[in-house]
Formats: sequence, structure tokens, C-alpha cells
Amino acid sequence: MVRTLGALCVLLALTACKANDTAQTTTSTSVMSSQSSNDTRVAKEVFGHIPTPSNGASEAIGSYARGCQSGAMELPENGQTWQAMRLSRNRNWGQPQLVSFVEDLSAFAATQPGWDGLYIGDMSQPRGGPMLTGHASHQIGLDVDIWMLPPSRLDLSEAERESLSSITMQRANGAYTNNDWSPQHEAILRRAAEDPRVARIFVFAGAKFEMCKNAAGNRDWLRKIRPWWGHHYHFHVRLNCPAGDESCQDQAPIPAGDGCEDAEKWVNDILNPPPPSGQPPAPPRGPLRMNDLPDQCAAVAGR
Ligand SMILES: [Zn+2]
Repeated sequence: MVRTLGALCVLLALTACKANDTAQTTTSTSVMSSQSSNDTRVAKEVFGHIPTPSNGASEAIGSYARGCQSGAMELPENGQTWQAMRLSRNRNWGQPQLVSFVEDLSAFAATQPGWDGLYIGDMSQPRGGPMLTGHASHQIGLDVDIWMLPPSRLDLSEAERESLSSITMQRANGAYTNNDWSPQHEAILRRAAEDPRVARIFVFAGAKFEMCKNAAGNRDWLRKIRPWWGHHYHFHVRLNCPAGDESCQDQAPIPAGDGCEDAEKWVNDILNPPPPSGQPPAPPRGPLRMNDLPDQCAAVAGR
């Protein structure tokens, strides 16, 4: 359905992922454009204004921070155990696997004391691709932001879903969790991490540090919980490429181990920032152009 992207979006960027939330994304050049090499349109200007999904088979095309999606499904605005938030953004679209994942995780969340389910933030645009505001990733219909705010009701009006804000879980610049962090948060993140569809979960370092302290029994699931900047109003779940989707590029595998030492290093670096490395900052990257995306994305945008 068509929605207007109004000025509200800018005002309500509070819960959007930091634009750098996918610096860990590995981008392969193997599917870089050839046929559309002359198409230098700014990709977010193309994909940011398309209000409907494309026809055709569901496919995640390219990589999380450089791609698009065809045959996307809309996450219904209201479900038994979720509500999609910020409907004006029209970002409640994803691959069918992502929609099922949200349904399943929210059903689990609803079993937790104090949680009616989940408030769902940005997924992808109807045809994926770069967005006009926020997010380096969320381009191929396999990323979702989930609010940290425990839903106490699931009958929010459209206007309330624009005005309500999530809450932060962090203290000391993200080195630690605050008093709003709960065993329920840990149970929901653990459930997500144990889901074989899930590749990675990005959350602030203090949350991972806390989960490392509290984890009982098998600790394998902790690997998928990745400390990252921001991500204290929401956590970000990234799914693996769906089986058989040959246009989709997975990220490099996560290093072995539970990653708890790494989380501790993050915490220490937040508390006692190391001196600057002396490396010159990377040159700024211009916006992605259509010919930076896989060839198929030009067709997806045009269908
Ligand atoms: Zn995100």
C-alpha cells in the first residue's frame, strides 16, 4: 500500500539503526553490475520512492548493504503478537522467511512476563535497496529491527505508532545495561540466536557482556550476538540467505567461540577509550549508484 514518507520520518529516526551498523558486512564484487554500468542514478532515490513490491519469485539479491529484493512480503501491520511501528516509513517488507521469523519470535516473546509480543521496527522497503534515511543495510529483506520496549498493548493506533518511542537499555555509554534490561530481554535474544534462520544479532556491547555473565548451559548461541554501536533502543536480527537463493550473498562466517572476550574488550574500550590509532580516516563513500548494485536490481526497480 502506498504511504507518504513525510517529515515525521526524520523526526522519528530515534530508533533507526546507525548507518554504520553493517560495517561488518562483507561485500563481494562478484555480482557487480556489467549491463547496467551506465546507470548512475543514486540508488536510494530510485528504491526510496517505490511504494509496492515487485512481482516474481521471492529473492534476496546481493548483499545486506548492497542489494535489493524481489517478491517481498508485507509483515501485516497488526498480528496476534506484534505490531509494526512507524508505518509511514513503509519498511515492513521482507523475504517470506523474515516475516515467518518475526511471527515466530513474537509468539515466543508473548510467553514472557510483561510482554504482549514485539514491536517491530524497520525491515526493508518493498523492493529493498538503499533507503533515503538511516541504515546501510536492510537492503535485501533479511534484516529486522526489534524494539527493546516491552509491548504492554497491541492496539496502538497508526498515530501512536508514529509518536511512541522505544527505551534505551544502556548505561555508561553502552558499557553496561541499565535497570530496564531484564531476564525477558535475554530470553528473547537467546531464542532469536538459537534460531537456525538467524545469522547475526547486533546489540550494544553491554548487553552482550551481561548475557555472557548470565548464560547458563550451552553457550554456542552467544556467538551470534554481536556487539555493535548504537542498538540500545532496538536489537537488529539478520537472517542467513534462504536455502537455494543463489542471488543472495551471505556474510563471512562468525569467528569461532562465544565472543565473550571480544565483548569484554568492547566494554573496556568504552570505559577507557584507546588513543587514536593514527590511521587516516577512510575517505567518505558517496551514495550507492544503481550500477553499484547487482544487475538484477535494475530489473527489480523497473517491474
Ligand atoms: Zn537494523
